[in-house]
Amino acid sequence: MCTRHSCQAMPEQVNLVHTDNYSSDKEWFIFITEEAQEGDLEHSHELMNVGDIIWQTAFNVIFCPYCGERLPGFREEHYHKAHNYKLI
Ligand SMILES: [Zn+2]
Repeated sequence: MCTRHSCQAMPEQVNLVHTDNYSSDKEWFIFITEEAQEGDLEHSHELMNVGDIIWQTAFNVIFCPYCGERLPGFREEHYHKAHNYKLI
């Protein structure tokens, strides 16, 4: 089960999720995703639809970078882990 954090200043392309998808214990990961817009479809053979993911990056955090809230359930043994995806 994932818990999400959202706040007013957080952009639409950003998700902040407490998950164990990348580690044995839950960590807070921030996901930033660039999705295709109408103009991107004209410049790429691989993008088929508006909303197709162009790239996504994920890394773990202990504070929300938008409101400054210290996220609940963080572990003192915080480690840095980042993933970068270019899906097309
Ligand atoms: Zn926040």
